[in-house]
Amino acid sequence: MEGLWSGWPGMSIAVMLGLAVGSFANVVIYRSPLEGLTSVRPSRSFCPSCQAQLTWFDNIPVLAWLLLRGRCRSCGTPISWRYPLVEVVVALLFAGAWWRVGPTDAFGMLDFAIVAYLAVTCVIVSLIDLEHLIIPDTITLPGLALGLIVSVCLPSLHVGHVFFREASPHISSLFAGIGGAAAGGGSLWIVGKIGALFLRRQMEAAGVEDAMGFGDVKWMAHTGAFLGVAGALGAIVSACFAGALIGILMKLVAWMQGGREPQPIPFGPFLSMGILVELASPGFAWNLLQAIAQPA
Ligand SMILES: [Zn+2]
Repeated sequence: MEGLWSGWPGMSIAVMLGLAVGSFANVVIYRSPLEGLTSVRPSRSFCPSCQAQLTWFDNIPVLAWLLLRGRCRSCGTPISWRYPLVEVVVALLFAGAWWRVGPTDAFGMLDFAIVAYLAVTCVIVSLIDLEHLIIPDTITLPGLALGLIVSVCLPSLHVGHVFFREASPHISSLFAGIGGAAAGGGSLWIVGKIGALFLRRQMEAAGVEDAMGFGDVKWMAHTGAFLGVAGALGAIVSACFAGALIGILMKLVAWMQGGREPQPIPFGPFLSMGILVELASPGFAWNLLQAIAQPA
């Protein structure tokens, strides 16, 4: 595949694929938190305002939104700029995944597919969590199963892990996936319990049951199945850094605006940032922690 897929032709295909997947991601983001709709049924997209079915032309990523000037063709209701934005962001993430993996053979293509899948899942989960404060099981549970299946089929996913190395590569890799799922979900569950101890007063005031929703736990179990123990924990460490940083900034802004308590933000988008950091630069969080612990 060297030649045809390397360089700009391959990158262009990754971008086109990202635009198409981003368009599907919009459907998942809109439909999966709603009752009675699935991402494949009804198969045609429709305008949420007038229910008019969209034509194939209206579904062309980004371009249709620009040509329609962000309005429904039938009723003229404004279409959120979130739709083209998601398509562009997913296309950029796919380009980044292609650039980082640099696939030259079929295994490389599988690696690209896994990185691209995790990246688009981060976008989907973040937007659903920001809007609805949930992470749907319809995304995390099939994804967890997929992660374990990929672990069995593709032992190269978990290079360097330490579980059952004497077993066959496939079995040993499955245990690495299970270990990652347990580490990702379990550590987040513990972080949530500790957070609940510190934030009890604020949470009671806001009527929130748990600092860490169980959706986050299932989502990090899903991600851990792909990333393994070190990757899952690294993503959570990065997420905590990002969360603390943004949390402090928001408190500061709220204080400057007259001491109003800032709105609580869900942790899902921070976990997404952590996962994307881990995908872009595996081990980043651990290296950062080490640099903090032992300044040069
Ligand atoms: Zn309409």
